[in-house]
Amino acid sequence: MSTETNPFQNALKQLRLACDAMGINEDIYTYLSHPTRMVQVAVPVRMDNGHLKVFEGFRVLHNSARGPGKGGIRYAPNVDMDEVKALAMWMTWKCACVGIPYGGAKGGVRVDPRKLSQAELERLTRRFTANIINVIGPETDIPAPDMNTGSREMGWMMDTYSMQKGHVVHGVCTGKPVEIGGSLGRTQATGHGVAFIAHEYAKRHGMKPEESTIVIQGFGNVGQYTALTAKEYGYKVIAVSDISGGYYKPDGLDVDEIFAYISDPAHRTLEGYENAQRITNEELLELECTILAPCALENQITPENAGKLRCKVVVEGANGPTTPEADKILAERGIDVVPDILANAGGVTCSYFEWVQDRMALFWDLDRVNEELDKILLRAFEDVQKLVEERKVTYRMAAYFVAVHRVAKAIEMRGIYP
Ligand code: GLU
Repeated sequence: MSTETNPFQNALKQLRLACDAMGINEDIYTYLSHPTRMVQVAVPVRMDNGHLKVFEGFRVLHNSARGPGKGGIRYAPNVDMDEVKALAMWMTWKCACVGIPYGGAKGGVRVDPRKLSQAELERLTRRFTANIINVIGPETDIPAPDMNTGSREMGWMMDTYSMQKGHVVHGVCTGKPVEIGGSLGRTQATGHGVAFIAHEYAKRHGMKPEESTIVIQGFGNVGQYTALTAKEYGYKVIAVSDISGGYYKPDGLDVDEIFAYISDPAHRTLEGYENAQRITNEELLELECTILAPCALENQITPENAGKLRCKVVVEGANGPTTPEADKILAERGIDVVPDILANAGGVTCSYFEWVQDRMALFWDLDRVNEELDKILLRAFEDVQKLVEERKVTYRMAAYFVAVHRVAKAIEMRGIYP
């Protein structure tokens, strides 16, 4: 992996820029550039054909100055320690940026989940959980869904942890099915937040939903609910993509139809969806639009395509979709980037509500969840917006100012043990 696309190197660059601009003490930079704990485990799985396969699993706790570690578990063929370290660091900033009492963590297994049966995935999830059991827990580090994991995996994870402990521990992970301690609204929360933050940005910049178009890269959990919520706000979603390619309709896609198409177990991808023009992923990113929401992977907006983007603003649904070099080009071109640590924080914020409800054993209705979610996201957006205006910095820089300042303050107040 080149240094420009190594996510951890990019995460360090972003931290360096923020610390330099804020005049943060070098000791704090040094502290924050080292993840607190990195665990790598072998995950042996008996495959359905009787053979054994061993997968690599990772869990990184970046920092716990503000609270227990929090962050998802992803299943993907390119997962490695540097990616998980970067994602864990971004979780520290995300939780601090929205002001929820967590540190940052992340985990993953290097596996292509599409090649495993449901039974194999269950054995993999259970063995991975057992192998990291000493570093996770409701008071220490709380996993959640991320790329290619969802409520099903979180159910297995909670069960495995609980069986080992001898009693039910709802709060060990979030994003669980609502029947077993999950929260209403968690499935929609990340995409809801992306659209909510995009909408707040639009309001501040005099953009009207009915005159604005959105392009969404990635149609997993985040992309799907970004599209549905944006449609509810009155925006026109003109293109979406998934692993099968891009789908474009200049006068607006039928979001409900496309959502129903991908939700059909007979499809699972958008392949075969006919009511749109087929385009490539590169073409999709370069479409003329108001809001571009990359909701797929890291390193999608790079120096190669940053000069060709034709959106007014990038709102990051994925973690780390824009490289620091591309950020610079976009800033020079006057294209704002509303960063991941603010734009996609709706998911972890709702995870926080789930954990709170689990600990109280008292569950909220959907209206309460959404009301509290919007309240936290609005406050975070306003904190960042204020700094953008006062300090004349980019949205990413402003979000880092808010986040790094809060973490640095917590480290300072707690002091260094012993
Ligand atoms: N994986 C999600 C993220 O990147 C959610 C994490 C969580 O809910 O803890 O923010």
